Amino acid sequence: MLCSWRSLPHRVAAGRCASTIQANMQRFVPASGSVDSNALEQLQAFVSHASRLFVISGAGLSTESGIPDYRSEGVGLYARTNRRPMQYSEFVRSAKSRQRYWARNYMGWPQFSSHQPNPAHFALRDWEEKGKLHWLVTQNVDALHSKAGQQRLTELHGSTHRVVCLDCGQLTPRAELQKRFAALNPGWAASAGAVAPDGDVFLEDKQVLNFTVPACDACGGVLKPEVTFFGDVVNRTTVNFVHDKLAESDAVLVAGSSLQVFSGYRFLLAASEKKLPIAIVNIGPTRADHLTDIRVSVRCGEVLPAIQL
Ligand SMILES: [Zn+2]
Repeated sequence: MLCSWRSLPHRVAAGRCASTIQANMQRFVPASGSVDSNALEQLQAFVSHASRLFVISGAGLSTESGIPDYRSEGVGLYARTNRRPMQYSEFVRSAKSRQRYWARNYMGWPQFSSHQPNPAHFALRDWEEKGKLHWLVTQNVDALHSKAGQQRLTELHGSTHRVVCLDCGQLTPRAELQKRFAALNPGWAASAGAVAPDGDVFLEDKQVLNFTVPACDACGGVLKPEVTFFGDVVNRTTVNFVHDKLAESDAVLVAGSSLQVFSGYRFLLAASEKKLPIAIVNIGPTRADHLTDIRVSVRCGEVLPAIQL
């Protein structure tokens, strides 16, 4: 089924192409209303006029790959569970918290790491190849842009596919750590709880106590996902680098982010100060809505591949 909004003369109903999406992927995509074709025409004109487009992406882009976000109304993890993300200070302070974190992470990894890019990721990769996209900054830590082949990319909050030693700074692939976990905990997984469809893992306290967490193989230090946890700050060098990329750009597109976290929102403030044109594709309101008139509340996977370059 062709999903181009051009085939829908006056109004496009989000979810119209639902038959093309696996049901389990749609579970995490919030409902959106219908979008008038005028907004879509505005978006097309916006992209057409840009020659060095800066894109900032967020969790809304990955929900279509089956990864739940935290904030989407009704379907995000905040809405569906009592779970809250690990705080940086707690991870650093408490060996017990790290043990619980890694035990769950170990169980959830095979599923989480198997998610694949969706048409929105591939559309942005194509924009890069065709010279439209100058730089892509993602707030996502799922590596789906990398899997899609994006090169001009900054993972603002890191990637769950890398592990960093808090003591010596050595970076290693997360996949290697999975092998170390398995070697240190033979038979452990069989006694652990089930993995929910969204990757959530349920473990009893006594199961966690029996889980062995390896140390850095270079210095014996503490291992942490190379991800910015809540309560942590984004590396200043990375922030400055992204500001440089923004300064080289001539337009800014927000794709699938409500921009509630300041680390991403600051680039919209900077873009606004530079008087750069801004457009937003996101289901639901965003923190930057007042900075633009071009807002399209529809799935990124539906609208981005339909844009003509
Ligand atoms: Zn180390």
